[in-house]
Amino acid sequence: MSRRILIAGNWKMNMRAESAASLAKGIVDVVGKSPAVEVVLCPPSVYLGQVAEAVAGTPVEMGAQNLYAAEDGAFTGEVNASMLTDVGCRFVILGHSERRQLMGETDACVAKKLHAALAGNLVPIVCVGETLEEREAGDTEKVVETQIRGSLEGLDEARAANIVIAYEPVWAIGTGKTATKEQAEAVHAFIRELLGKMFSTEVAEQIRIQYGGSVKPGNAEELLSQPNIDGALVGGASLKVDDFAGIINAAP
Ligand code: PGA
Repeated sequence: MSRRILIAGNWKMNMRAESAASLAKGIVDVVGKSPAVEVVLCPPSVYLGQVAEAVAGTPVEMGAQNLYAAEDGAFTGEVNASMLTDVGCRFVILGHSERRQLMGETDACVAKKLHAALAGNLVPIVCVGETLEEREAGDTEKVVETQIRGSLEGLDEARAANIVIAYEPVWAIGTGKTATKEQAEAVHAFIRELLGKMFSTEVAEQIRIQYGGSVKPGNAEELLSQPNIDGALVGGASLKVDDFAGIINAAP
């Protein structure tokens, strides 16, 4: 089973209307008409319109950074799956460690969002990863397993192949410290085995598992050439055309 490499740019809370549009246009130019890899841009929700316009009619896709798991109604400040697809999103990042840490998102809350995303035809990118203390205590696999089982609660085999997992060790996010290719591959292989137990080997072979945490042009190639690393979720290096292009072009 060959899985298409998925490179996603998580812009987090950065950019303004003009810079968002020009970054997106720059990436569209780099990607060209028939890229070997799939490329997704995830701007802040207020700039989805600018990015949608820049990527319209190109292979570059768009994702959101979060959603609220409810139908339209009295939820001040929130945005739901139907609104995200309405403006052109195909993907949505869920359970990013910043949301887990800063907004108190739990696995149960991520699971609710996962079902809302799938019901709304969005591909969820479910983020998991251990902190430095957890890694040093030897708990990486236990933590990642708990997060995956909890965040995918209630997901059936038929829909599981449509999701993406992003393994993002918290200690590697925005720190300049990347997991070595061996460290990352070991956790990715563990995750795939776990998905095999939860669903089936066939489905586990189809699920893309991205790595995230200080991915840069200089380390992208070695990470992306590991057998169980199927892409990258990129923060800091997705904010500059040249850096993000370097990552896209490093894909094997
Ligand atoms: P980083 O962020 O590339 O800046 O480390 C990755 C992420 O948080 O998705």
